[in-house]
Amino acid sequence: MNITHIETIPIQIQKKESLAIVSSLGANRKSSTFVIVKIFTDEGIIGLGEVSCDPIWSGEDHVTSSHYIKNVFTPLLTGEDPTEVERLTIKISNAIIGNPFTKSAIEMALWDILGKSVGLPLYRLLGGPIRDFVPTKFSVSGTEPKKAAEIASWAVSIGFQAMKVKVGLEPETDILRVRAVREAIGEKIKLGVDANGGWSPSTAVQTIHRLSEFNIQFVEQPVSPLDVAWLADVRSQVNLPIMADESVFNLQDAMTVVKAKAADIISVYVGKGGGLGSARKIAVVSEAAGLTCTVGSNMEMGIASSAMIHLAMSTPSINSSQIPCDIIGPLYYEDSILCQNLPIKGGEARPLELPGLGVELDEDKVDHYRIE
Ligand SMILES: [Mg+2]
Repeated sequence: MNITHIETIPIQIQKKESLAIVSSLGANRKSSTFVIVKIFTDEGIIGLGEVSCDPIWSGEDHVTSSHYIKNVFTPLLTGEDPTEVERLTIKISNAIIGNPFTKSAIEMALWDILGKSVGLPLYRLLGGPIRDFVPTKFSVSGTEPKKAAEIASWAVSIGFQAMKVKVGLEPETDILRVRAVREAIGEKIKLGVDANGGWSPSTAVQTIHRLSEFNIQFVEQPVSPLDVAWLADVRSQVNLPIMADESVFNLQDAMTVVKAKAADIISVYVGKGGGLGSARKIAVVSEAAGLTCTVGSNMEMGIASSAMIHLAMSTPSINSSQIPCDIIGPLYYEDSILCQNLPIKGGEARPLELPGLGVELDEDKVDHYRIE
């Protein structure tokens, strides 16, 4: 089998107004932009990928992503056997620095083709299920305390047993928000906080001490990823487990965090490291260092969310029963571009039992949300 050509389709889709996330990374954007990737083969199999276009996260948008796929990756991949996933991933990784979310869309599309070519769901190719489903947690926006409490109560009402609240905006309001959410959901629901690097090291230490009374399971990225010493310094002064998210994009970042003793938990993405393969390597480094892993998100749609489910279903060191995963993106959008939605509901995500990623595009919807 050979790759014949690659198509990129930029789309923009509205978020549900009531759920859209405010965090220390910025205000509530009303919509998200993605690039849908289709890798075509001479055997008629088409692999699907999805780029999360979020320049605040990685400097990639739909223009840079489409450019690199069209002008750099397509010439490298055309004529190649798409089932040689590892080799082709190295090939595109070496072609340009950075751009991990763009690379990850190519990699997941190659896995999709491999799965379709042998008739197996991706998680079975990756070694099979090590859990029946992936436990998930909800993410509550860094909005005013009363509204945050309402969102949190709604999340419990649809089945979530775990959630995190965005903090890192302003310490006093952060604490009021967490207090309001804890009061609204009761003591039994697991609750973490995610500062997205918004606190200074000293503010982080003080605020985390004050948050301990709310039975907090973890503190995600309390300080900026600029210097891993900041995260290590905060961790050494507080009693709550620290999760590294923005501090760990790739395998080397994971090693840096481990050596610096900067975190207890690492949040892995399919996108941050350039694919499922990178995420699994980071998970193994975490395991060897005695850290816990979970799957994080920047609000992916159906194709990338499916890749995240297959990853979490088959990777033992992603301990989703302890720290449920953020595989919740599709819940935040007004619409889906899939023919059959993923089995994602409150607190649970499951893979579709179909070959590859298992997802099929609704082409009318793709046309409807297409942008230039
Ligand atoms: Mg995060």
